[in-house]
Amino acid sequence: MIQDLFDLTGRTALVTGANRGLGQGIALGLAEAGADVALLSRTGAAATAEQITALGRRAFEVTADLATATPADLAAAVDRVVAQAGRLDILVNNAGTIKREPAAEHSAASWAEVIKVDLDAAFFLAQAAGRHLLAQGSGKIIFIASMLSFQGGILVPGYTAAKHGVAGLTKALANEWAARGVNVNAIAPGYMATDNTAALRADPARFESLSARIPATRWGTPADLQGTAVYLASRASDYVHGAIIPVDGGWLVR
Ligand code: NAP
Repeated sequence: MIQDLFDLTGRTALVTGANRGLGQGIALGLAEAGADVALLSRTGAAATAEQITALGRRAFEVTADLATATPADLAAAVDRVVAQAGRLDILVNNAGTIKREPAAEHSAASWAEVIKVDLDAAFFLAQAAGRHLLAQGSGKIIFIASMLSFQGGILVPGYTAAKHGVAGLTKALANEWAARGVNVNAIAPGYMATDNTAALRADPARFESLSARIPATRWGTPADLQGTAVYLASRASDYVHGAIIPVDGGWLVR
């Protein structure tokens, strides 16, 4: 049956930033498709874990602050997931932060934190998870990119640099790992109603101009990413490598 291609029963996923927002939606979507899910957060993800358990799947919690974690810390976090869950099949590099400050005044601290969380941690988690997936000869890595993997944005130079980096990493890792059974792809969400965009939605002028440009005429929600996440995590995408799939209500083609 074609539906079986999307079945994640028996797989284990690690989702970062799974305590709220898009990461929580993705974690729940993967669990609904059958996966057990390890939830990486800095302060715990009990609410997500509860919902996953209620679906009849196993949930594991791993804590790490991606702004301060070293590559060795991240490798240890991945090892803990493998030890607890018994396997790892899917990594969703979702956690991210954003600092809105004009380029001319953008502080070194804001720049450093965004690059550390959104780019460095994403790479070193992919590297650590990738070693397990390459050893078993199969697996799926999904980066969460952005419209600002393609466009420049306003007031967010560090975020734009990091998300362009994420797009490049998706392609670079796909080139190295496609022949070894590991798919590396990305989802580029459009404008989604989460804490990440709270400042934009609270500014009436920005809210109106952004909303008017979305062909689907509404902002996205965490649930809008679930289908693409399950697809990229499943056998259905086995011949898809290095793709950056916009889930943006049509924003990019406007
Ligand atoms: P969000 O609601 O602000 O959630 C961000 C998540 O990242 C939270 O779980 C947060 O954990 C985690 N995180 C941030 N800094 C961290 C750190 N130092 N260590 C560990 N975890 C950390 O934002 P979101 O919209 O769900 O964003 C999720 C991803 O989608 C991000 O990569 C973002 O760039 C991307 N994205 C979002 C949009 C959008 O419109 N919302 C559009 C394109 C791309 P805490 O709860 O501990 O802070």
